[in-house]
Formats: sequence, C-alpha cells, structure tokens
Amino acid sequence: MNKDKTKVAILGATGSVGQKFIELLSNHPWFEIHELAASDKSAGKKYSEAVNWVMQIPLDKKIAEMEVKKCEPTLNSKIVFSALDASVAGTIEEDFAKAGYVVISNARNHRFDDDVPLIVPEINSDHLELVKIQKFGKGAIVTNPNCSTIGLVMALKPLDDEFGIDSVNVVTMQAISGGGYPGVPSMDILDNVIPFIGGEEDKMETEPKKILGTITGKKIEYARIAVSAQCNRVSVIDGHTECVQVKLKKKTSKDEIIKAWNNFSGEPQKLNLPSAPERPIIYLEGDKYPQPRMHRNLGKGMSVAIGRLRECSLFDYKFVILSHNTIRGAAGGTILIAELMKSKGYLD
Ligand code: NAP
Repeated sequence: MNKDKTKVAILGATGSVGQKFIELLSNHPWFEIHELAASDKSAGKKYSEAVNWVMQIPLDKKIAEMEVKKCEPTLNSKIVFSALDASVAGTIEEDFAKAGYVVISNARNHRFDDDVPLIVPEINSDHLELVKIQKFGKGAIVTNPNCSTIGLVMALKPLDDEFGIDSVNVVTMQAISGGGYPGVPSMDILDNVIPFIGGEEDKMETEPKKILGTITGKKIEYARIAVSAQCNRVSVIDGHTECVQVKLKKKTSKDEIIKAWNNFSGEPQKLNLPSAPERPIIYLEGDKYPQPRMHRNLGKGMSVAIGRLRECSLFDYKFVILSHNTIRGAAGGTILIAELMKSKGYLD
C-alpha cells in the first residue's frame, strides 16, 4: 500500500464500468484501489472468480486476489466510485454518503437531486459548490452524466459560451458496451440497429440543461436550451457517435466554430490533472471522420472528436461527435471528477 495515495473503493466492480475503473486506476498517481464491492452473488469470492474480465489488459494479479465485499458502508476507503446498476444505486449511494463516504457515481439515480452536482470537469467545475449544502456531513454524492450527454455537452459548451445556443437536435449511434455486460444479445444486435434505448432520450434532453446551467447561491439555474434526442443502439463495441444539428443565438462562421472547439480547455487542463487530455475537443478535417474504431482512443479515450461541420438547412449548423462511452463517458470522466475534487480540497 502506498501511503501517499488516497485509498478508493469501487462499487459495482464486476460490471462493464467497474472493470474500466480497475483498468484506468492501475498505476494512477493519486488513487489506489483498496476495496472492490458488488452484489451478494459476488461478495465473498475472489475478484477473479466473480468477474468475467473483458478488458484488453490482463487482470492485475493483486486485484484478482482481492475479496469482493458487499456494497455496505463498512469499507475502509472513504472515497467510493460507484458503477452500480441503477436499480440498486439510489439507496446504496445514499447510505454511503450518510455514513461519511464521498460517492462519485455513474448511475442516474441522484443526477437531478437539487443539491447533487452533475459534473463534466471542463464545463461546470463550479457546480461542485453544491456539495457544501448537502445534508451528509462529511459524506457527499457527486454524479457523472450519461455517456452520450457527455460527448454532446462537450461540443456544445464552447458554442454556448461564444455564440449562445437556442436549440439542438441529436441522433445517436451508441455502442453495445453502453448497455453494460453482457448487454444486448448478439442475435439482436449483429446485422442490426435497435432504434430504442430505455430512458436515454430523456437523459439527453434534460441533463445538458443542468450541466450548462448556472450556479446561483444554493441552486442550479437550468440553461434554457431546447434539446430533442433520438437514440439508437448499433453494432459497435465502444464509442458513441452523435449527429447533431444546432441553432445558435448569434450568427457565426464555420471557421469561428472550429476555432472555438480547438481552443477549448477547462479547469482540468489548467490544474494539469492526471486524466485530463491536453485537448478535450479535437476537430478532425476530412469527410469520413470521426469513426469509432479510429478515434475513440484519442487523448487516451478522454478527448471528444468532432467532424463534418457544415451548414444546415433547418438549423444553423450540423456536425458529428464521437466519444468513448466507458472512458470519457463513464470511468475516465468519474476519475477526472475525483482528481478535480482532490485538487480543490473536497477529498481532505
Ligand atoms: P453492468 O455491467 O451491468 O454492472 C453492474 C454492476 O452492479 C455489477 O458489478 C453488479 O454486480 C452490480 N450490482 C448489480 N446488482 C447489485 C446489487 N443488488 N447490489 C450490489 N451490486 C449490484 O453495468 P455497467 O454498464 O457497468 O453500468 C454501471 C452503471 O454505470 C449503471 O448505472 C449505468 O447506467 C452507468 N453507466 C454506464 C455506462 C456504460 O458505457 N456502460 C456509461 C455511463 C454510465 P454483480 O456482478 O455482482 O451482479
């Protein structure tokens, strides 16, 4: 155990996002995995026996030997990453926060609680202030947005800052890993597109308003942006693609938009946080880009790729976004929140 590192636990450690946490936290300069927890079916087993490891790096021997614990607030690590299924995350996360743990979660359950921040570190790090008015004493709950929302808001933020956004239409092509493991049966997804992902359109239409909102005293004033979303599951393993149309409040040129994206950076870059990509947004020239296989790992999976910016006959502009759903959209984004919180003294 490294004394200089902060001990962390992962709830839902056996799932798709839980495994990505383990991969991304191996050799993390600030955090060290101290405990793993999952459902009662996995608790008590060695991690290697409880998990169906599907990451591309071999399972670390030390992690493989760790005993999976129950998701009960009796863990030694006060910082807890939650990758729990939404059917159970709500109460478990609240129990941990009440017991003094800082929970940073991927689950949807607490995203719209008035006193819970919904954070994309480059966009709204100031919303972390909400933690100070939470009723959990030393504990806290901070949430990471939906995986498709993150790619979308990253692209919208520089446009909103510089030109103002009136309305957005988005159509997604979402990777299979977004549905957890084992996810959609192969007989359903191979040679196919499924034009429905439960709850996803609602998340994409509401979350951007909170994230792009303004903190005024003790609450978030939601951004007044109209968003319409259609979400589809496609036969791609990792990487969500989104076709976006946007209506701006101020007329501008294509070059100005590309400049706004390429120049965009935020608090994580200023603070030089370990998981912060040098360039959070990368605009790709070329009619055929971005593509999941080629571009999902840009910035170690933390950069959002954008391409195909062109004028739109219905809105002002249209373009294509690609972001890695289990890295920037889940575990990587959550670790970046934890780094931000640590560097701002929220984990002391
Ligand atoms: P997953 O693969 O289905 O994993 C779910 C995890 O929850 C497993 O570790 C499972 O443990 C645990 N769990 C289930 N029931 C439990 C219970 N009663 N008590 C304690 N633990 C329980 O799901 P996932 O894709 O990793 O997603 C995890 C969370 O992140 C979800 O809320 C999801 O919506 C969100 N999210 C996912 C993505 C993505 O791209 N996949 C992106 C953003 C957010 P066992 O193995 O022991 O059953």
